[in-house]
Amino acid sequence: MTSPEEVADRLGALQERLARAGGDRVKLVAVTKGFGPDSVAAALSAGLADVGENYAQELLSKASSLSSQPAVGLQPRWHFIGRLQRNKIRKIAHLVDLWQSVDRSEAASEIARRAPSAAVLVQVDIAGGEGRGGCPPSETARLVRHCRDAGLVVVGLMAVGPPGPPELARSGFRLLATQAADLGLPELSMGMSADIEVAVEEGATMVRVGTALFGPRPR
Ligand SMILES: *Cc1c(COP(=O)(O)O)cnc(C)c1O
Repeated sequence: MTSPEEVADRLGALQERLARAGGDRVKLVAVTKGFGPDSVAAALSAGLADVGENYAQELLSKASSLSSQPAVGLQPRWHFIGRLQRNKIRKIAHLVDLWQSVDRSEAASEIARRAPSAAVLVQVDIAGGEGRGGCPPSETARLVRHCRDAGLVVVGLMAVGPPGPPELARSGFRLLATQAADLGLPELSMGMSADIEVAVEEGATMVRVGTALFGPRPR
């Protein structure tokens, strides 16, 4: 169970971390993957409306369990941050507000087909093929162009840092910031529980945080 009080406490600590790093204006996406539907309710009651999910099935079941409960006031804005598969895109297209993990042209085309003019981020692999998703940095501009040609609205870039010490992510985050600036893209979604400071220092406009808000992820 995720208690709203615990989430509110952890949010306070997280906001202090962000402020110390100079990121008090950064948008916080609460990543609820692996946690139950009560995690979404807890995020909403703490004032966090941006909610990130990695798996279509989890998103669907959390959305439907929320809709069967009395409204908490805020409505979630769903961010999809996981691997995109064609048949899954169709199932969640009506729910997703921001597709953060567009890393190949086929996925972009399918999103454009199911959710015309949807807002997307292009995910870039800054971890060098560690299986964390993303297009190779050399493909970023081409994929952004493909998304636009398909009618999608590209608002920025996203990346997952490499495993290991947070400092290891710095050069990749910097590369992402440079690419976004070169392409005139305003949003930079980078930084997770372990490396938000480095991400904010390198210009993140959005961080995606799970365990630092909800505690250890149940397995
Ligand atoms: C799980 C996940 C997060 C959140 O990670 P935490 O370490 O729990 O903060 C952020 N982004 C992506 C893409 C993820 O898969």
